[in-house]
Amino acid sequence: MRKPLIAGNWKMFKTQAETRDTLRRLDELIGRLLEVEVLICPPFTSLPAARRAAAGTVIQIGAQNLHWEEKGAFTGEVSAAMLIDCGCSHVLVGHSERRQLFGEDDAGINRKLKKALSSQLVPILCVGESLQEREAERVEEVIEGQLQQGLKGLTAQEISRIIVAYEPVWAIGTGKTATPEIAQQVHAMIRGWFEGKYSSVAADGLRILYGGSVKPGNVSGLMAQPDIDGALVGGASLEAESFAALVSYQR
Ligand code: PEP
Repeated sequence: MRKPLIAGNWKMFKTQAETRDTLRRLDELIGRLLEVEVLICPPFTSLPAARRAAAGTVIQIGAQNLHWEEKGAFTGEVSAAMLIDCGCSHVLVGHSERRQLFGEDDAGINRKLKKALSSQLVPILCVGESLQEREAERVEEVIEGQLQQGLKGLTAQEISRIIVAYEPVWAIGTGKTATPEIAQQVHAMIRGWFEGKYSSVAADGLRILYGGSVKPGNVSGLMAQPDIDGALVGGASLEAESFAALVSYQR
């Protein structure tokens, strides 16, 4: 049985004070929720504030990116050890905004995944096709390529610790959500790929989140699909009320 995970990606939003206030309010609203895992990924500068505000709550803290080296002359970068020091349990890897706006490629994403895993962080590998790729009927080829390259050289034990987020680029921040059926189709394809490449145990245990304009009004339809195990949420995670409504989708 895969426990659902609802994760919020705050991108480049919220100061420390805003982080503290939002997380306190979120805690008041969701309380001891046990049936769903809850994760918030604030910007780096707000991680210490997030850690303090989330202490003693069910809210876990993650980061939006990491560097693959332990330390060194990498101006502007943040290491896995630094994230752990700030209370992170998870880290997003290969978000489409990193791929598109900051030139991240599958080889770098692979190194980041390996670093996260060897540091005991849980990586959330983001994959997804552009509108152009969908229209050219290349969805399967694109996603399989991202998985193949991103997961290169990982052991079966490491594979069992990763989470995948399917985020069609055309649905991120656009208000266009994939229908539950479209999302389910791709999630089933991803699970099938894991079964073929690794094992049915790896495929059954894999949590696959959907991301792309998930809102309180569409979350239950998505979560009702057999291969959708959670959501990665941008815009609707910024307000405590809407994120609380998302994580309480079963209630
Ligand atoms: C995201 O940033 O991963 C995302 C899915 O954003 P939004 O929910 O705003 O589409």
